[in-house]
Amino acid sequence: MSADCDPAGLRVGGFLPFTMVDYPDALAAIIFCQGCPLKCVYCHNPDLMPACGRRRIEWRDIHKHLVRRAGLLDALVFSGGEPLMQSALPAAMSAAKKLGYKIGLHTSGIAPERLREVLPLLDWVGFDVKAPFDRYETITGVAGSGEKARQSLTLLAAAEIPTEVRTTIWPGHVDTNELREITSDVKQMGIQSFAVQEARDPLTSIPKGGEIFDDPVLLSAFAGKFADFTLRRAA
Ligand code: SF4
Repeated sequence: MSADCDPAGLRVGGFLPFTMVDYPDALAAIIFCQGCPLKCVYCHNPDLMPACGRRRIEWRDIHKHLVRRAGLLDALVFSGGEPLMQSALPAAMSAAKKLGYKIGLHTSGIAPERLREVLPLLDWVGFDVKAPFDRYETITGVAGSGEKARQSLTLLAAAEIPTEVRTTIWPGHVDTNELREITSDVKQMGIQSFAVQEARDPLTSIPKGGEIFDDPVLLSAFAGKFADFTLRRAA
């Protein structure tokens, strides 16, 4: 096994041993993978963007924790940063799966080939759809990122992996009209679960709001498209 495909090669910038909000209806631990190629305007994890960060948590220490908590926790969530950027991801997911953990993934879908590799290991995915697929660059700053996301979401839908699509509202770039387009597209792809999230300004931490949050009629129209619909206000 080459070094970067060994789970020990996983670059981890943060680890939370217990969370009740990052995997639906389950007690979980969550790993924040280091490195993300996108530059979202509302990113609150800039420390996780570089491929190598200032802080590194060793996989062997996480694995020891997972062994101790096996049977007490239900799931392990790989978040980021962008977990799909790491070649050590499949091995790390397999190791956790062998201990009995359900595997969750938070992703932007920027690497469909890696997603294809880990599909058989996934139990649930939280998938950020950042903008209409042909206008992703306005949020992510990266050309072609929308097409990658579309390919990844298509893979998840075809594999019938339970997936919650989340869209963060960033007024001026993603607002009501864009949300209409996004919800129609993902509904057509077979997605049943959708969440609208309120952004916070990364500099001031002030919630950005947007017209949708003050319009119950509009909200219920979006909610009516999906079996599950969640509205997440910035707390
Ligand atoms: S995908 Fe997530 S971690 Fe990456 S830049 Fe966007 S918000 Fe930040």
